[in-house]
Amino acid sequence: MPGRLSAVSLDNAQQEKLSLHVVKGFRLDYKQQVSAVKAGGIVYVDLESMSRAMRLFNKQEGSELKIAYENGGQTSVCRIGEGNNFVSFAPEKFLAGGRVIQLRSAPVLQKGKFWLPAVDAARLFSLWMDREVVYDRAKRRIEAFLWSSRPGSRKKMIGLVGNQKNFGAKPQDKRQTVITGMEVKKLTNGAVIRLRASGAKTAASFIKPDAQGTASLTLQSAEGNPADIFRTFKSGIVKQIRAIPLGSGAMQISIVLNTRYYKIKSSGYTWDPETNSYVVSFLNDIDVQEVYRTEKQKQITRELAKDLQKWKFDTIVLDAGHGGKDPGAIGPSGTREKDIVLKIVRDLGAIIEREWPDVKVVYTRKDDRFIPLKQRGKIANRNGGKLFVSIHCNAAKNRSARGAEVYILGPHKNEAALRVAMLENEAIKQEEDYKEKYKGFSEEHMIMSSLAQNAFTLQSKEVARHVLEGMEKKTKINGRGVRQAGFMVLWTPSMPSVLVEAGYLSNRQEEKMLLRRQVQIRIAQGIFNGLKQYRMSYERQRVASGSGERLKG
Ligand SMILES: [Zn+2]
Repeated sequence: MPGRLSAVSLDNAQQEKLSLHVVKGFRLDYKQQVSAVKAGGIVYVDLESMSRAMRLFNKQEGSELKIAYENGGQTSVCRIGEGNNFVSFAPEKFLAGGRVIQLRSAPVLQKGKFWLPAVDAARLFSLWMDREVVYDRAKRRIEAFLWSSRPGSRKKMIGLVGNQKNFGAKPQDKRQTVITGMEVKKLTNGAVIRLRASGAKTAASFIKPDAQGTASLTLQSAEGNPADIFRTFKSGIVKQIRAIPLGSGAMQISIVLNTRYYKIKSSGYTWDPETNSYVVSFLNDIDVQEVYRTEKQKQITRELAKDLQKWKFDTIVLDAGHGGKDPGAIGPSGTREKDIVLKIVRDLGAIIEREWPDVKVVYTRKDDRFIPLKQRGKIANRNGGKLFVSIHCNAAKNRSARGAEVYILGPHKNEAALRVAMLENEAIKQEEDYKEKYKGFSEEHMIMSSLAQNAFTLQSKEVARHVLEGMEKKTKINGRGVRQAGFMVLWTPSMPSVLVEAGYLSNRQEEKMLLRRQVQIRIAQGIFNGLKQYRMSYERQRVASGSGERLKG
């Protein structure tokens, strides 16, 4: 229902509690309340408050709100207009070369704030920043999965937020010290933190890093928004900076350093009269490993960005779970997972080959053989796969558990998801000298693969949603929803990937169903219908956003 909401009045809206959780890598980085209201059963979020919570610079100009996002040294500006369904994303200085997307509802400007349904706001930020931002209605929260370091970025947005505070603000009392912004400059052999201030100079005392790597600068009489003076870093000597207001009107800036990777050689504090800045600096011995790792991450991120651009629906990799000496789950009457999933995969492959002659189908196995988990992703990458679909059947101690599930890679959202991932990862132990081989699944490998998957999470989620829908329509199996879990088989492929659990073999009824050829074919057809829906919406999006050439077929 495009456009209708511009007529909505938020006059009688109720205040709504809504928090924004920023997740970086697999961990919660910080959370913050954002301003929200509820009207007619819909939760609206104040876009300015949301962008501030995401540490993005924003500026209101009449009936337009501009939000800036810095990524890889480039600033992209998102322009949101009152009552306008179309939002543009463009590089800072050029209007051309940007993208335009259509919102399902137009932003409402009320009491000087731009309001948008939380679900649409999440989608908007997702599309714009190419990061996963989701609205969880039940938990009253927006989750933003941001990879922390914004690779390539040097200038920090925090400084701009500071400027914004002065924008249209009442003149400050000349004598009061107000921290208006923060800049963090990373050097190969250290870091410089610059806190810009307005007002008079205040006395400050610096405490050098302790054994745990925490240093602090205490400003005797200063103010500032703690949210503006907060940053965490995934790499480099500085791990976290935050401001702690002390009761006496003083403010403490606490700085946590990464002493695991860096040996701190010296640290110091100075006040810069020219810019009225409080400057803290740290010097360390150069850690070659760390420099290398950061560089590699940057490089991978660049490569991935390119991959996403030229993503085409031309090669689908089908992965029948287990095989050979690994039977997978075994049903009460002895049905083996590896046999059922092979049949479904072959049915699915046949349908794709028949319906989409322009799509190449790659099988990780076409017969009953054992293939190590890591190998499966490698096969997919080597063959230029553009979509990875792994098919399994589930099992649970609780014999009444039933239903199909579709997973994507991600942090385990709940116990049950973790349990399923553990079960499937067990297959590794069937491999010879698995300990030796999976040593590669070290921290570094996980960073790389999750980085790779991160870029495809949005697509994977969409694929998963469509596939589940397709299966629901085609089979009697109850869809239990799209879930996230850390499946090892999904770690290696550098492409959107989903894992389908077609049903529970441990459930006597479902075992019987899954054995029937008709049901197997229906499941395959259901998955295919899902892929078809996904392909269609993907093509529409590409055309609508003008970001790519029209796809064939
Ligand atoms: Zn399995």
